Order: sequence, then C-alpha cells, then structure tokens
Amino acid sequence: MSAARVNLSGEERTFLHCYLKGRDGKRCFYCARNFKKRPLRRKTLDHYIPHRIWPGWNVPNLVLACERCNLAKGDRLPWPLVWLLLTVYRPENWELAA
Ligand SMILES: [Zn+2]
Repeated sequence: MSAARVNLSGEERTFLHCYLKGRDGKRCFYCARNFKKRPLRRKTLDHYIPHRIWPGWNVPNLVLACERCNLAKGDRLPWPLVWLLLTVYRPENWELAA
C-alpha cells in the first residue's frame, strides 16, 4: 500500500477524500464498487502512479480505491498508464535520458 508510507494529517486526508469523491464519485476507481453500499469495504487513498515513481500527494495522481484493489495493485503500473507513457514519451525522446 503506497499510502501508508507517507504522513498525512487527518484534515488533509479528509479533504482529499472529499475532493476525490466529488471528482470520481463514491466508488472504487478500479472496480467501481460503491463505498456507500458496502460500509465494511475500506476505502483508501491510492497513488495511481506508484509513490516511489511520483512521490508526494499530487491530487491528479490520487484516486479512491477499496482496500482490496489497493493491495492487489501494489506498486505495479496500471496498464492505461503504461499506454499513456508510451504515447506521451515517444521513442525519439528517450535518447535524452541516455
Ligand atoms: Zn476496488
């Protein structure tokens, strides 16, 4: 779980939860299960791009995820993101990093 490694005050966490609920709805970003209907299903803040790659609490990089999806995802890159990176960072730009 990426969220557990970083300290975030309760206030900030509440704010982020509210913000993300407004943006994405009260559901898990990955499996789209509604949090409201399943109060036992814990919702977590998940870094869409794993925290070790993009540290910090950048709101565009945060999604609400149920605990199960968050744990299942771990630090792996989501496929839509891999696709996006391949689109944005075209091979001709890669030599810059070499
Ligand atoms: Zn889920």
